[in-house]
Amino acid sequence: MSNIDYEAEPLSRANIRDYATNIRAAIGFDQTPYIPIGDLLEFVLPRVMPDFFWDVWEKQQMGASHGLANPDTNSVILRNDVYVGACNGVGRERFTVIHEIGHLLLHHKDRLSLRRAVGKPKVYRDPEWQANCFAGEFLVSHKLVNQFHNVLEVSSAFGVSMDAARKQLKEFAKNGIWQK
Ligand SMILES: [Zn+2]
Repeated sequence: MSNIDYEAEPLSRANIRDYATNIRAAIGFDQTPYIPIGDLLEFVLPRVMPDFFWDVWEKQQMGASHGLANPDTNSVILRNDVYVGACNGVGRERFTVIHEIGHLLLHHKDRLSLRRAVGKPKVYRDPEWQANCFAGEFLVSHKLVNQFHNVLEVSSAFGVSMDAARKQLKEFAKNGIWQK
């Protein structure tokens, strides 16, 4: 999803953090920092979402899109290179996959509406902001982050890019979760 003409029911980072933490616990990753994307798609999500559907399309079919999510059919299409990268532990691609999963979990059509206002949407109502926020909070668990000591350790333990690790730690620092 990338359509700026939609807005979502407002969700704060705190709401999304709680939600991501509950999902992690529900799928058995409350003690395990690294979420393996291949297993998540193949085994874990189909178990908790029986109608979950995912597929991998070639670059020619996807164009500039790295991933597409349809929350109303619980389906995600990933570009081949994104899928392969995510399975091989590339942080950026892992983030993209979880961003799309975030749309599935957060943006069923009863939570989205066409935006009538002009100008930039309020950040808390922007589906793209919410999906990015979900990806960061889900991949880097605030409950486990203090087992690690710096950006590099966090990046490799949770499988996110250095940039994503830095951003996430900054958010945790604002709430006193990260004090290093
Ligand atoms: Zn998106």
